[in-house]
Amino acid sequence: NTFAEIDLGEVLNDNIRNRCKYVKPTPIQRHAIPVALAGRDLMACAQTGSGKTAAFCFPIIAGVLKTKSPATYGRRESVAYPLALILSPTRELCCQIFEEAKKFCFQTNVKVAVVYGGAPVYTQLRSLERGVDILVATPGRLTDLIERSKISLQKIKYLALDEADRMLDMGFEPQIRKIVERLDMPPPASRQTMLFSATFPIEIQRMASDFLKNYIFLSV
Ligand code: AMP
Repeated sequence: NTFAEIDLGEVLNDNIRNRCKYVKPTPIQRHAIPVALAGRDLMACAQTGSGKTAAFCFPIIAGVLKTKSPATYGRRESVAYPLALILSPTRELCCQIFEEAKKFCFQTNVKVAVVYGGAPVYTQLRSLERGVDILVATPGRLTDLIERSKISLQKIKYLALDEADRMLDMGFEPQIRKIVERLDMPPPASRQTMLFSATFPIEIQRMASDFLKNYIFLSV
């Protein structure tokens, strides 16, 4: 089993091979990526170190590459309209995802940005103004920036929740629910949602049934 067999497109495959030096997909990648590329919602039980970041990033990037209009270089936007949103519990995790996603997006016009709490908002706002297709965020800072009308979720087509059990442990459930409600107001033409969690307690099951439609369950 190789990445070339999974239909991710030439640029992504080139970045996987030459920038990331991944030789073959990990089990979660082998199972999750084709399901996500087929447009299905997904709930995956996956631990840190399983390669889950690439498992949700690759299909998102492939999708964004297909839908994105040509880059508008130099134009400053006062409100960011990302196409994809990745929620993660901590600043460290967000930064890791951001760094990986940038590597995956090399040689493309896909723009990645990251926002998290505990850091000055100013530099984050400057990066949003340059345009953002894929936004990596903690729920708290994201909510803050939505309320300040700096970010709109109106165009979100892809939502990934990473380490969902940890986000619940940290008390983010109300904020996450509010964020997802915003995604559904007005009801989107189509939104693909992927939920990743190391454990699958009742709270996560409830979230899966509330946020995902007709989803595939994967456990590796
Ligand atoms: P994650 O579980 O997403 O935090 O990934 C754990 C580590 O494995 C990261 O350093 C990734 O860069 C690396 N990794 C992810 N997928 C692969 C792969 N297919 N082959 C080799 N390393 C990988």
